[in-house]
Amino acid sequence: MIIIQLKPKKEESLLRFHPWVFSGAIHKIEGKPAEGDLVEVLDVNRNFLAIGHYQIGSIAVRIVTFEKMPINNEFWNKKIQLAYAMRVSLGLVVETNNTYRLIHGEGDGLPGLIVDVYDQTAVMQAHSVGMHETREILAKAIVDAVPNVKHVYYKSETTLPFNAPITPEDGYLIGNETEKLSALENGLEFHVDWLRGQKTGFFVDQRENRSLLERYSKGKSVLNMFCYTGGFSVYALRGGATLVHSVDSSTKAILLTNNNVELNFPNDTRHKSFDEDAFKYLNNLHTNEQKYDVIILDPPAFAKHREALRNALKGYKRLNAKAFEQIKPGGIVFTFSCSQVVSKEQFRLAVFSAAAESKRNVRILHQLSQPADHPINIYHPEGEYLKGLVLWVE
Ligand code: SAH
Repeated sequence: MIIIQLKPKKEESLLRFHPWVFSGAIHKIEGKPAEGDLVEVLDVNRNFLAIGHYQIGSIAVRIVTFEKMPINNEFWNKKIQLAYAMRVSLGLVVETNNTYRLIHGEGDGLPGLIVDVYDQTAVMQAHSVGMHETREILAKAIVDAVPNVKHVYYKSETTLPFNAPITPEDGYLIGNETEKLSALENGLEFHVDWLRGQKTGFFVDQRENRSLLERYSKGKSVLNMFCYTGGFSVYALRGGATLVHSVDSSTKAILLTNNNVELNFPNDTRHKSFDEDAFKYLNNLHTNEQKYDVIILDPPAFAKHREALRNALKGYKRLNAKAFEQIKPGGIVFTFSCSQVVSKEQFRLAVFSAAAESKRNVRILHQLSQPADHPINIYHPEGEYLKGLVLWVE
């Protein structure tokens, strides 16, 4: 294995189990690693620190183990088995639920790898060349570890570093599911289009937050902004909402939402969807004379990079201000940010500014985060990305 030796003191973060080595920390590379190769990381005195995948970029190594051990099939099998055992222990693999995240990158000790399970299909997404090159072994490990999974679909065309010398192709690594592109989440059925949908096809990370919405939906009129597959809408309908409106600017998302509503609540006249820009829809509300008891704001990441942070915070403020302006007295707003570069504090401050601007009395009822199958490695706080607030607006 190629050796990477760090500069003095640069071992400190690895001794605290932080799973990345930045390129600036490297003193010497012994040999010529190709992107994706496994490398051994040593401190300046040549003490062993960790083993990881080599990358070209500011993160130079993504650690897969802090123990000196062979990285063979057994190693990967063990990692997948541990992750699956945890999901079973969390009660996510039950008759009424077969939708869950099996592998959440650093949170499961597998930087660069995401795996979501939809009933009998696991959808795998590599974010590093190292994981891309391990894909066949990982796919086999998944079907061996997860009794229900028969198919593994690989979907990494858009997630791998674009300048890496590889040409990833989306497709099945194991099996080939052509019939059943749907799965159960908390007893509700969802069409999941992993072939064409965003990310792995469904936003698994909102499961618990959708359940919370269900609890507050009885007798309420609900507006679900940025609905995508209509997850929140379907839960609101089950919770006894009197009316649910879903909004998304993508025609495909609206079709998915309509499909999912129909699948669970056929011919239900309480639901209506709008293929429209969110800001435009909120701006036109007063002309429609429609006010809502509950509004959900779950926009796409407004900032994917640090440079976009300022504009993103403005965007969150503007969006939330609109919701505060429009919601009925005694209404509830569910507001989210999934931008990794926006911290919990920054998001809260943006929502605070929006509240102050609206001059309404706003109280925080819940502070939400990502669910347990998206665990945050305690040594890698960067893994915390989903933030949400549930607000009471007087
Ligand atoms: N709430 C969803 C996930 C939202 S993903 C869930 O629970 O699964 C973000 C969605 O926002 C996408 O479907 C995208 O089409 C939509 N979107 C992006 N920009 C938009 C805009 N300006 N107006 C309305 N929808 C938008």
